[in-house]
Amino acid sequence: MLTIEAIPAFDDNYIWCVYHSVSKQALVVDPGEAQPVLDFLQQRQLNLSHILITHHHYDHVNGLALLKSHYHAQVYGPHNPFINGIDYYLKAGDRIELLNSSFEILEVPGHTLDHIAYFSPDLNSSDLKSTGLKNTGQPNQPRVFCGDTLFAGGCGRIFEGNPAMLQQSLAQLAQLPAETLVYCAHEYTLANLAFAQALEPSNSALEVRIVADSSKRQAGQPTVPSSLALELATNPFLRCQSPELIRSAEQYSGRSGLNRGDTFAVIRDWKNHF
Ligand SMILES: [Zn+2]
Repeated sequence: MLTIEAIPAFDDNYIWCVYHSVSKQALVVDPGEAQPVLDFLQQRQLNLSHILITHHHYDHVNGLALLKSHYHAQVYGPHNPFINGIDYYLKAGDRIELLNSSFEILEVPGHTLDHIAYFSPDLNSSDLKSTGLKNTGQPNQPRVFCGDTLFAGGCGRIFEGNPAMLQQSLAQLAQLPAETLVYCAHEYTLANLAFAQALEPSNSALEVRIVADSSKRQAGQPTVPSSLALELATNPFLRCQSPELIRSAEQYSGRSGLNRGDTFAVIRDWKNHF
């Protein structure tokens, strides 16, 4: 049986672990720290066979060397020679088969230029369960591991790309099936939703989500994964067509007649100061 669990790291990172409870094979996504992963694997007596990397930031890659010294794990990641320890470089359109499941590679630059995402259309559909997480959906739901590109209720900061590039990458993710579960790498959700509400105070789906995600946090549970359908209904960075949101961006920027691209650039900048 396949299981997905979040391994908390640093203050607010999630290192996602997918493992097979019979074969004891495991993969992790973006191990920024090794120790929490080593502890987790040991507790569950798992063997780390694969590591997936989404981008080069230290809080996603710094555990690589230590994990490779403990396990003979094969490491997959973007074509960035500055990341030490990648065995297989991936590009858009590549497909890899791990733990009897397939992962399609999407290039989603903007937060960084090297950023990729891993989309599994049918993650070992026969028997997947999630633990420690509520509302994680049906076994055969598609799933995407998207690092710091699309967050629950928000999106990553622009460190290396530009707004148009990030917006295009988010649009690519938004075209995945609406039932896709979104596994991002940080627990930023409540702060993201507070910003979203400032932009779209009349969005009732957003109000419902804030209540639901607040009670998850109060119970000590992750708000991740979310679903793409929920993101489309509530995430301002996927909603630059919303008249209310455009009005908010126009008021903030003192400009009028903003198109979708302008609106995205304004709110991405606004979020940095919110
Ligand atoms: Zn990052």
